[in-house]
Amino acid sequence: MGSQPKLSIFLTKDEIEAAVKRLAAEIRREYQDKYPLLICVLKGSFMFMADLIRHLDFPLEVEFIRLSSYGRGRESSGKIKAVQGLRSKVRGREVLVVEDIVDTGLTTGFLLDHLRQKKPTSLSLCALTDKPSRRQFPVTIDYLGFTVPDKFLVGYGLDWGEKFRNLPDICLLEVEE
Ligand code: 5GP
Repeated sequence: MGSQPKLSIFLTKDEIEAAVKRLAAEIRREYQDKYPLLICVLKGSFMFMADLIRHLDFPLEVEFIRLSSYGRGRESSGKIKAVQGLRSKVRGREVLVVEDIVDTGLTTGFLLDHLRQKKPTSLSLCALTDKPSRRQFPVTIDYLGFTVPDKFLVGYGLDWGEKFRNLPDICLLEVEE
């Protein structure tokens, strides 16, 4: 039957909701008069983005970008490429990137460099989770939900081979061989 994943709750949906509200309040203070462009990094950030913008009661735009760094397993392939480009103009915009997790930093670093070349007025990063112990590429997170340990997380948008994105909590996944 192969390996069986074992899940245990790491962050409950209530803890996530409280963090999302806190981040929304911080983002509101900075962006309420700036008509920002929020860029959601697919697929993992879709749930976070959807919940976050529900708490942002001022004019903004959303855009979606798809990058690949992880394959079906748990380790980064290290190869990053934009597979779905941006339609909105970034030049002259106040841009806020919305990420699910910053791990090695390669994916986010690549995306921020890519966006910086398009000359936004400002470029900031909001990440729900951060695994600083795994960092290979320095990334500044302007709005952070949680610092997490070097464990593999699933749920609330995060997957394991495309599974478990629909879990409302963020769970630790351990594979028993
Ligand atoms: P990085 O390039 O920073 O190493 O990886 C960023 C991407 O790897 C994240 O956007 C996410 O898709 C994936 N990733 C990193 N850590 C985890 C994790 O613990 N769980 C899941 N499901 N994906 C992760």
